[in-house]
Amino acid sequence: MEAPADLILWDARLVDGRGGPPTEHAVVRVAAGRIRAIEAVDGRSAPPGALDLEGRTLLPGLIDAHTHVISDTERAPGFGTPPPLHGEEPRPEALRWFVLAKAARAFLAAGITTIRDVGSPDDEAITLREAIRLGLVDGPRILSCGRIITATAPGSRIFGTMYEEADGPWEMRRAVRRQLRRGADYVKVMATGARSVERENPEAAQLTAEEIGAVVDEAHRMGVRVAAHAEGLEGARLAVEAGVDTIEHGLSLHREPRLLDRMAERGIVLVPTLSTFHDLAERFRDDFAPTLVAQAERQREEAGKTVEAARAAGVTLSMGYDSGPPGANANELLRLVEAGLSVSEAIVAATSGSAKALGMTDRGMIAVDHVADLLVVDGDPLAELAALTDPKRIWLVTREGVPAMPARPSV
Ligand SMILES: [Zn+2]
Repeated sequence: MEAPADLILWDARLVDGRGGPPTEHAVVRVAAGRIRAIEAVDGRSAPPGALDLEGRTLLPGLIDAHTHVISDTERAPGFGTPPPLHGEEPRPEALRWFVLAKAARAFLAAGITTIRDVGSPDDEAITLREAIRLGLVDGPRILSCGRIITATAPGSRIFGTMYEEADGPWEMRRAVRRQLRRGADYVKVMATGARSVERENPEAAQLTAEEIGAVVDEAHRMGVRVAAHAEGLEGARLAVEAGVDTIEHGLSLHREPRLLDRMAERGIVLVPTLSTFHDLAERFRDDFAPTLVAQAERQREEAGKTVEAARAAGVTLSMGYDSGPPGANANELLRLVEAGLSVSEAIVAATSGSAKALGMTDRGMIAVDHVADLLVVDGDPLAELAALTDPKRIWLVTREGVPAMPARPSV
């Protein structure tokens, strides 16, 4: 990658990711990939070389904390190649890498500058992460869990190499170590079964306290974070008590506010993934087993209640779309607002909230010394949140201070 150019963003309406009121007429100076200064326009016109935003809104790049990097586009209609017709030339298996490259660009073009991959088949997320890191394709920064650690469970027969089975505390520890060997950035574990698998029960705890405790101990000792998939209350309870760093889905937590208080105290972040319940209940209802659709309808209601209760308890919330197509992630913000967050709180969830979920202390905020992953929107997302979901309104995206797709201005 080329050395980051110095960049002066002139006359921005600054929404810094902390939730306060916007600052009008701000100037942000970027050098060597980081924000170096935040000043006020001093009355003159933009200096030579500066990029005049003319009052457009400048935000931190969005961070999606729950995305599956996956070349199978079945859940992202219209994104991949159309399904082959009978008699057509067979598709080369390696086309999948081009689908992933397209996804990487789509995330970035939508202003998503970091994603946390929460499970992908055949280590696709790790390969894509490396392709982006080596400059072979434009894309967001990716953190990957490697494979999802699960107890021996029916989901493995459906999700194949997205999962790695382990039973008992020592196998759990070994599974953590194997993910680190694979190149994982953090660990994800199934504390309960999944709502998308007919023969799994998402209500019961799928791991024992000893097993999940072993995962957390092993991961934390090695300096990586733990995300726990937890739908039912018992699994969520064991995960919170074991000290995981994020709860994924977590829809049943409204039933026990004490656990939400505990999460707030310990800084455990909730990634509510409202879109996945919505999509299973409505958008994809025709291609899921009817029992799962009925379950998703119930879960959607619970997930909304949990967002409200978590907000009241002071739990940090985060944006996780858990749906497709790549780049449509900000739809999750509309769902968070439907569930009771203010627009400003939803933007905080997608920026500093998600950065906290990922353990990143220098992203998700426009502040001096933070990484210059930035997003300029044509319009005012505080008044019209849907502007963030409209690709035509994404005016500029920078990754580490470098204007990325769509590389609109030449600076
Ligand atoms: Zn997921």
